[in-house]
Parts: sequence; structure tokens; C-alpha cells
Amino acid sequence: MQTNFTPTQLADPKTAEAEGIIRKCVHCGFCTATCPTYVTLGNELDSPRGRIYLIKEMLENARPADARTALHVDRCLSCLACTTTCPSGVDYMHLIDQARVHVERTFKRPPLVRLQRWALAYFMTSPTRFRLAMTLAGIGRPFAGIMKRIPALKAFGAMLELAPRALPARSRFAEPGTFPAKQPRRQRVAMLSGCVQPVMDPGINQAAIEMLNNLGIEVVLPKNEGCCGSLRHHMGHEDAALASARRTIDAWIAEMDGEGLNAIIITGSGCGTTIKDYGHMFKADTAYAEKARRVSALARDVMEYLDSLELPQQPSRGMTVAYHSSCSLQHGQRITLQPKALLRRAGFAVKEPAEGHLCCGSAGTYNMLQSDIADQLKARKVRNLKALKPDVIAAGNLGCITQIGSAANIPVLHTVELMNWAYGGKKPAALK
Ligand code: SF4
Ligand code: SF4
Repeated sequence: MQTNFTPTQLADPKTAEAEGIIRKCVHCGFCTATCPTYVTLGNELDSPRGRIYLIKEMLENARPADARTALHVDRCLSCLACTTTCPSGVDYMHLIDQARVHVERTFKRPPLVRLQRWALAYFMTSPTRFRLAMTLAGIGRPFAGIMKRIPALKAFGAMLELAPRALPARSRFAEPGTFPAKQPRRQRVAMLSGCVQPVMDPGINQAAIEMLNNLGIEVVLPKNEGCCGSLRHHMGHEDAALASARRTIDAWIAEMDGEGLNAIIITGSGCGTTIKDYGHMFKADTAYAEKARRVSALARDVMEYLDSLELPQQPSRGMTVAYHSSCSLQHGQRITLQPKALLRRAGFAVKEPAEGHLCCGSAGTYNMLQSDIADQLKARKVRNLKALKPDVIAAGNLGCITQIGSAANIPVLHTVELMNWAYGGKKPAALK
């Protein structure tokens, strides 16, 4: 795509990066066929190519985002299906990241939208605050349906609808500490605790820790670790996202330079995609560039890490798993084959749904901020998964598990919960 940035604009490294990304786009339109918002809405401006054009106009003219640009940027799921499809290698992820920051800084959203975005960023980035929010949501939950029918309150209704009726008990696997290997120690890893996951579903990290401990891996949940910054990063809150990430980088670097780490394990693929990008996010930060690069180099999705351990083949469990590949895992981290191969090695029959490349509509805070589109994507995803007639659905990201689980009427588990069970760990509670 031809661009018209001035030399002064291009002296800014971020603008130069955006220009390089935009220039790679050759307008071929291949990406439109796999873009969930284009497939759902049929509007060119809700396709990757359309958004690239809008972002180019906004950045080239150095103007504040207008309502039209903000609308179509906000409707992007950041699912990155377009990056998998694009034959020209357009790095859409780093372009939309920049666009979100620009929109956030220059566009004034309606007051209720701003309030909702503030609430999501505040409550979903700390387990303590999130637990409080879920307790309050329990009171408001009966009104979710009514609120969803009132346009101004629709987003708040969507937030309440996703709140669980009861929270699981607090888990020791969500607290900082060291979980020793149950065999002679082979490796030592850190694990990201997370913000929402330890409150909504502490069984995920419990299963991962139990399995790793049984395989001779010591797991540490570092003391000063906080939010990885992913949620705020995707809302365009750049400074807050980087501040959260710095704190977590410091906690991991202390472990790396202390007892040492073989890997940093992440059980939420949305967080994992951001952590693997820290090296890029901090490349201009002289104090953190090297530390961020070291952290990104050690970051592993839990299934990616298990794949490196050469697990033995287990007998058949007589169960069919429908595997939902989260966008952050398949498009963001390009981890596609390992989870399915590992599930088969664990003794499960694995089936894949039609349109596996399409997002389920969860996408961080998307199902609350863009609930109409998210609901359509959820219905489509659940229809495709249920067509497989599985005993259980597996996914590698809590957001997808919650989104699909809210409509599937079939147990939806994290892949590592099935793996842990197959290799001698506890049977997941949802299957009992
Ligand atoms: S990230 Fe997903 S929703 Fe956004 S333009 Fe790309 S394919 Fe479409
Ligand atoms: S597939 Fe790539 S090159 Fe083609 S229009 Fe989409 S982003 Fe541009």
C-alpha cells in the first residue's frame, strides 16, 4: 500500500514501524475471508484491509481518531487470523496495537463506555479486585437480561451475564510459593498466576502444577509477580500495560538470576502472546529491553512446554475431545499441532471443528465491549463444536472456556486439566 508519511513523521520509530507494516499490504484481500468481523458483518471497514486503510489515514494525517475509525478499530478482535492468512507477511498485530493506543489517547468515548472500560481495566487486572467484582456481580446478575435489552446498559448486562453464579474456593495453587518436584528434580520453572484465572478457575494452574511436579519439574509462583499487562495492552492503555509488565518482568528476572529458571510457563494463551512480545514492546526502553528479551525467550505455553518432555503414550480413555484452538495460541503463537498431538498421546480421540480459524468472540474484554458480535461468533463456534458430538471440549485459554462454556452444555476444560488426569493426576471436577 502506498504511503505518504513525511520524513519528520518517519523520524519517530513507532511511525516508521507502522509505515513499514502498511507498505507490505498489497490489497489482495485474502485476509477478508478469514476475518471474523468481516465474515459476520460483511463491511470492508470491518476487514483487516479496511482497517489498515483507516489506520493509515489516521496516522498519516496525524489527526485524532474520529468516531468511524474508533468504531472499526474497536470491532477488531485482535484474533490475528489475518496474520496467519496474509501471504505478504503484514504484521497486523503491531499495527492494531499502535492504532488502539492512538484511539485511546485522542478519541473521547461516550461516558458510559468510558466507565465500562475503566471498570474492566481496574477489576480484571488484579485477583483481589476481580474477586470483589464477582461478589458484587452476583447481586446484579438477575438484572443482566433486562440490562442487555437497554442499549446504554447492554455492555454492563454482558459483563454480569458472564459472572459465575458461585466462585470456587481460594486455592493454595494461586498463592506465591514453591511447589517441589515429586521425583528427582529435572527442571525448575516459573508459572504466571494470572488475574482472572486464579479466581474463576484455580483448577487450571493446579492441574498444570500437579502434572509438572509429577514429572520432576519444580514450579515457582514468584512473590512480586502481578498482571502481565495483556488486558490493558489490548485496550490501548500503553503506559499502564508497560508498568504492569515491568513489575512482572522484575519478578521473573529475580528468579532467573537467583535459583534459575528453565522456562516461564503460561496457561492462558492470551497472556502468553503478550509475554512473548515483551521483547518487541520494550525494545526502545534502555532499562528493560534486555530483561524483556530474556523473559520472552523463556516464555512457553504449557502445552508447548509439555511437548518438549516426550510424554509416553497412554491407553485409550474412550473419550472424544473437541479441541478448540484459541486464536492467541493458533494465530498469535502459531502453536497448532502440539496440543492435539499431546491429547492423542494422552489417550483421547481428538476432533477439530469446522471453521477452526474463527474466533469464539471472547477475545479478552471483547465479549463485554462488543457483545452483539461476540454473541454471534459464540453461537457459530458452539454450533461447530457440538456438531462433533464430543464428550468434552478442550481449549488453552480461560476466556474461550468461559465464552464457549456459557452456551455449550458440554464440559469445557483447559487442555492441561485433561493431560494431568491422563498422566495420573486428579480427574477434573467437571467430569465427575
Ligand atoms: S485481528 Fe481478527 S478481527 Fe481483527 S482484522 Fe484481523 S482477522 Fe479481523
Ligand atoms: S492478505 Fe495481507 S496483503 Fe492481502 S489485503 Fe490482507 S493484509 Fe493486505
